[in-house]
Amino acid sequence: MTNQPKRVSILGSTGSIGLNSFAVLDGLSPDYQPISASAHSQWQQLASQARKYQLEKVVITKPDCYEPLKNELSDTKTQVLCGQEHLVDLAADEHCDILIVAIVGAAGLPAVLAATKAGKRVAVANKESLVMAGCLLMPMAKEHNANILPIDSEHSAILQAMHSGHRREVEKVSITCSGGPFRTLTKEQMAHVSLEDALNHPTWDMGPKITIDSATMMNKALEIVEARWLFDLSTDEIEVVIHPESIIHSMVEFCDGSTLAQLSRPDMKCPIQYALTFPDRMPGLSERLNLHDIGQLNFEPPDFERFPALRLGFEVAQKGGTAGSVLNAANEAAVEAFRAHKIGFTQIVELTEQCLRNHNWKEKPTLQEILEVDKLARQEVENCLEDLGAKKIR
Ligand code: NAD
Ligand code: MG
Repeated sequence: MTNQPKRVSILGSTGSIGLNSFAVLDGLSPDYQPISASAHSQWQQLASQARKYQLEKVVITKPDCYEPLKNELSDTKTQVLCGQEHLVDLAADEHCDILIVAIVGAAGLPAVLAATKAGKRVAVANKESLVMAGCLLMPMAKEHNANILPIDSEHSAILQAMHSGHRREVEKVSITCSGGPFRTLTKEQMAHVSLEDALNHPTWDMGPKITIDSATMMNKALEIVEARWLFDLSTDEIEVVIHPESIIHSMVEFCDGSTLAQLSRPDMKCPIQYALTFPDRMPGLSERLNLHDIGQLNFEPPDFERFPALRLGFEVAQKGGTAGSVLNAANEAAVEAFRAHKIGFTQIVELTEQCLRNHNWKEKPTLQEILEVDKLARQEVENCLEDLGAKKIR
């Protein structure tokens, strides 16, 4: 390690991954140093991060939070910026060595693109950007010598296991999945689950959108697509294994019949730190595993009938092109509708599937086309909600 600390920017610094990222950076200090951060609306928390770490710049993306944040930080040297366009500035900032993208949803894509073009190490928690635009991002990373490293625990596990061989020796990747809170429910029972139930994940403590995605298993669908792009896998090389304890985070099977698994407690500090220190390892904060206490690990095949999102994940990973953008946008819009009590739980995946069926697929889209598809899918969900609302009134 050189004497110069690695300078890290955290976009989405007030969320679950953002807070864990600061904890990891505390542990890695003084070799790693946070220099800038962004949040959408939690300006008080962003202000305290700016003070604590003497950040050079902060970006708040919700306009009415700008004034209070600027006032709060008026006696500091932190530069306060407002608006989505400044996320791109932070991402491409020449002072930043590593960008952590912990923003939720499609809003993370412009920053991932900008940091990739600038040839940075991009530690991506924001799986949505890879699902939407993996077909553009991976070749772009190659061209600009950028390093896109996953923070998602499954993909971090795959990366770690893949270290033990060459890509050409990999026969299969098994992505593990806790099964979420509704793993044992029937389809009929699932139609009546509440928002509160869906927000109650059995093993992981995460932001609300990914928690709902985990309950529908759309999170696993997004992760299948994410793995497809990150590791250049065909769908024949990917399987999903239900593993309720969330101790094995994924596995890679090699051509000689050996399978390598990565194990740790369900704690995102592990994959965050690995994305920062890769290919090295440094002492970490995560609580150690005690297999005697855990006693037993269980595995089951996934049920595509009760969790149709998984089928969509494989379908989209196989199609590529614009399919990922539709899947992601329709799901984001449908999850928002569920959170606003406009639709029931099982309608999230139904609406998403409907958008996928109706869309005009393109194999090699431009960024413009990917963004257009995103907009159309959200509009289609909106139209469906109006139709559903009209039916209820009649
Ligand atoms: P969260 O909801 O806890 O935090 C989201 C962060 O993004 C917040 O800082 C918020 O201010 C910011 N944000 C929200 N909307 C924004 C917008 N429109 N523009 C700019 N910033 C915005 O979410 P999270 O659980 O930390 O997840 C973040 C990302 O990491 C997601 O893509 C998720 O899928 C991925 N991820 C999370 C976990 C986890 O354990 N939480 C695990 C794997 C992957
Ligand atoms: Mg994951």
